Amino acid sequence: MKKAKITKNLNQIKKELKNAQLVAVSKYSPFEDVVLAYEANQFDFGENKVQELIDKAQLAQGLGLNKIRWHFIGHLQTNKVKDLIKIPNLFAIHSVDSIRLLEELMKREADLQVPELKLFFQVNTSHELEKSGFDSPEELKQALDLLMAKPSSKLKFFGLMTMGTIRTTDFEVEASRCFRDLALIAQNLESLYQLKDKLHLSMGMSQDYKLAIEAGSDYVRIGSAIFKT
Ligand SMILES: *Cc1c(COP(=O)(O)O)cnc(C)c1O
Repeated sequence: MKKAKITKNLNQIKKELKNAQLVAVSKYSPFEDVVLAYEANQFDFGENKVQELIDKAQLAQGLGLNKIRWHFIGHLQTNKVKDLIKIPNLFAIHSVDSIRLLEELMKREADLQVPELKLFFQVNTSHELEKSGFDSPEELKQALDLLMAKPSSKLKFFGLMTMGTIRTTDFEVEASRCFRDLALIAQNLESLYQLKDKLHLSMGMSQDYKLAIEAGSDYVRIGSAIFKT
């Protein structure tokens, strides 16, 4: 029954995605749900805790779920980088939110098990204090300069991530504003750095992914709408 429900939710959401990729956020879900989603052809999964990701990645490897691509989406403490970076099938980190974290990733990148790791820089478009992320274009540029100074790096600047405002009376308007802001910041960086590849936008969760898709999202990160409803 659980399998039918997860499959139905996945299929429903996938119809609405346009060209966006779906990252199924399994952070509230037991590993068994990851397997059920995998059997329904969902291969991108997101987690926000390093130890939980390590545990699930190990179980997945044990079962030979080799198509899985793991996305780390939570606040990453610098002292956990060394463990995260060794995970097989690690695809992207959506939450690079400080220069200090980027420096630590660059220091440890030799331990990567994958040829390339995609990085999204997290931008605090809602300016809520409890949210992580770069607060200004200057900080973002500093981070980008740091990464670009090492062209041989296996860390690839892949795009930007944001979350819509939580505390607001008009959450749809606010979320759309955050998403459009992120798209503009990405455009500015693309032209400023003359980037060959378009930046990818990671935005949209269960309650606001439709708005994010309208604003041009490339990666939506959806948990409860797949696993909980
Ligand atoms: C939990 C989480 C999500 C998914 O949230 P849902 O509301 O369950 O879809 C997406 N992005 C981040 C960064 C998260 O922490």
